Amino acid sequence: MDRLAKVFTQQDELIAPVAAYQNEYEAIKALHSLPGEKRQHFQELTLKLLDDLEQPHIRESCAERSRQWREQGNLLFRSSSKDLGSDADAERVLGACRLYTKAVLAAEDAESELCLAFANRGMALQEYGYYQEAYDDCANALDCGYPVKLQHKVIFRQAHCAWKLKRIEQLAEHILCLEKLELNESFRQQLEDLKRSLELLQSQSSNDKSVNDQEKTGPIHEIVTESGSRGRYMIAKEAIPQGKIIFREQATCFVPLEQRLICQQCAASLLCAPIPCPQCRQRVVYCSRQCRERHKPIHKFECAAYRKDLLKMVGVSHLALRMVLSYMPSMLPKLQECPDSSEMWATITTLAKGADNENEPTPQYLQSLRMISHLDKAPQAELVYHMLCANLLQLYLKDCTNFFDQFQAMTAPIEDWHLFLAALILRSAGQLLVNGHVGDALLPVDLEASEFGLLQPEMWLKPRHLKLGQMHNLSQTEPLTAINLPYLSLCNHACAPSIRTKFDGCTAVCQSAVELEAGEEIFNCYTMDYKRSMIRQRSQPLQQVYKFDCSCEKCTRSDPDQDYLKFHRYRCENPNCLQEFVPKPLPHQTNLNWWMHPPDATVASVCCPVCKETQAFSWYNDFLCLIDCCGEAKARRALYKAFDGLDKWLLEHHILKGKLAEMIIEACFAEMDEGCVLDDVDYENLMRIIGTQLEGTAAHSGGTSMEYLSQMTYLWDLWALSKCKRSDQQQQEMRGKLEYLAGEQREIFENYYNDFIVQQ
Ligand SMILES: [Zn+2]
Ligand SMILES: [Zn+2]
Ligand SMILES: [Zn+2]
Ligand SMILES: [Zn+2]
Repeated sequence: MDRLAKVFTQQDELIAPVAAYQNEYEAIKALHSLPGEKRQHFQELTLKLLDDLEQPHIRESCAERSRQWREQGNLLFRSSSKDLGSDADAERVLGACRLYTKAVLAAEDAESELCLAFANRGMALQEYGYYQEAYDDCANALDCGYPVKLQHKVIFRQAHCAWKLKRIEQLAEHILCLEKLELNESFRQQLEDLKRSLELLQSQSSNDKSVNDQEKTGPIHEIVTESGSRGRYMIAKEAIPQGKIIFREQATCFVPLEQRLICQQCAASLLCAPIPCPQCRQRVVYCSRQCRERHKPIHKFECAAYRKDLLKMVGVSHLALRMVLSYMPSMLPKLQECPDSSEMWATITTLAKGADNENEPTPQYLQSLRMISHLDKAPQAELVYHMLCANLLQLYLKDCTNFFDQFQAMTAPIEDWHLFLAALILRSAGQLLVNGHVGDALLPVDLEASEFGLLQPEMWLKPRHLKLGQMHNLSQTEPLTAINLPYLSLCNHACAPSIRTKFDGCTAVCQSAVELEAGEEIFNCYTMDYKRSMIRQRSQPLQQVYKFDCSCEKCTRSDPDQDYLKFHRYRCENPNCLQEFVPKPLPHQTNLNWWMHPPDATVASVCCPVCKETQAFSWYNDFLCLIDCCGEAKARRALYKAFDGLDKWLLEHHILKGKLAEMIIEACFAEMDEGCVLDDVDYENLMRIIGTQLEGTAAHSGGTSMEYLSQMTYLWDLWALSKCKRSDQQQQEMRGKLEYLAGEQREIFENYYNDFIVQQ
């Protein structure tokens, strides 16, 4: 990162003074028209940086590391755990899948090792029951040159998986291929068996109709309006009840945040057999061969950048680059006749100003071109940074990829395409600063960056079935993607949003958060909402990033913080006072969470406005001490009592009560994970505490929020573990929450519900 900052500083000096900003095109043009010597130095700095970023790569060391992981995998896979029961056996096989995955990643482009790692992982995946992934791994092994004389074994495995997956065509194809090979007696026998299986499948398939796997699209209730000065916004076309899915938007462009290893094509986050690109240093993976294939048109231009680790340095410009790479094929027909870059820019600007056609959906590239940008209002340093990023990425495409070859046959000279491309990246970056979204998902707790959720042997019983008591280990909400959703971006901001957005891979699912009347505007909240922040906490980002002062109904009422303060009601500790109160925020205070600040901070004191006494909150430290020893039954009992005692000082759904409940629950479950055995008294108390906490979360964040779903996992574990009573209604209500989970997670929750919770 330092290296980039250094180069940018030098370049910044070369281009100073920067002329007043007009638009992205003029800004980049200024860079491209520096006087001769300066321009040369400027370009050399970028090229040198690109050159320096190439890291040494020793294929032999990759092969060696991969071999070591594979051998560890072999050792585990072949070890006998049959006597230990089926649980231990499942752990053995999944543990081997995990080690083979490390071998697959470590091999990078050392194909002699890579093919063996794939083949062995395929074997373990097949045994565990991940047939689709095993099938893919066999194909991967064959692709990377698996030894010819052993190939029949891999093809047999593929055929077996195809049979398990009921893929008639593929099975027939593999049988045909095997028939051509010379096989020994035992393999010939296996082949005969496969043929019989194929016949059986064929006879069955004529009976059942093929499933219609049409993409489920919710009813569209919303409507986009354009009206002069107000710009574009969304209104409800008809009355919409609360909790209905209003629309889904599938993103064409997203990038993993913090280089997370999620599928680069579909954003799947729970992978059991990640397939890496062997060329870019274990930084890019896919969930399947199909996703890898689909992502090729993009990745072929990003691969070298990943190899140089360039993309993590440029922040939002990576997603901007991806937008340009993705949308260019759609824009090209409109640009090919343009004689020069200025005409191209004019064409793009005209397209961006055009109106939507009511009769057909607007293509995503056009929707994106129409997103607003506030680059013109950005401080100069910020603007220059984004200009230099755009220039860097354009020069990267020119110098390290053949991206610009496609423009050779176009009318405009290639230099004009260079300029235009950089301007387009800058434009997209500026748009993303105010329109970009962050997608999240529930993931295993405390998972290391190089680990994969589905490959943790201690969590899983069989494919996508958790072990009893493991649900709470799937409760971490993690930001995963920076994602471009131009349709959702049409919603204006209000601090009380009318929609709630959930992410299902790279699809955003938007539900109504409240009841909406026909004709009512649909708002999204760009920052923390009115229940979770004070007006002065959210007004700063709204002003800095989005360049407006909020005038929504919550911000303009006489007491804009009243809904926030509801969750901060205390009773005074002074025995002569005992009045209920909410603390009065000091002028510089942006929140009232004194427990999050160091004890000596001035904001940490809460004063009763009636008797003026500073609250000591001695119960708070006592509470923390008890949490520390909650491995002991006695301390736990005291803790439950202390929790009930909080009701005296923390009123209604006080936010701190929720935090403390969370601490008790997490600490007790951590003890359980360590082997501590809880009894019925524990279960009963924990159940009550979780109930209180869920109620508070529902009031604070909503009953379908990620916070709620994440905390619900503890309740499900308790239900599953303790066999304690719950009403059918409670059970149905919790099952109903599944609807609000992403597909990957929903399947796992559903399995858990059916395996351990449903009561016959
Ligand atoms: Zn995928
Ligand atoms: Zn690559
Ligand atoms: Zn507001
Ligand atoms: Zn008082």
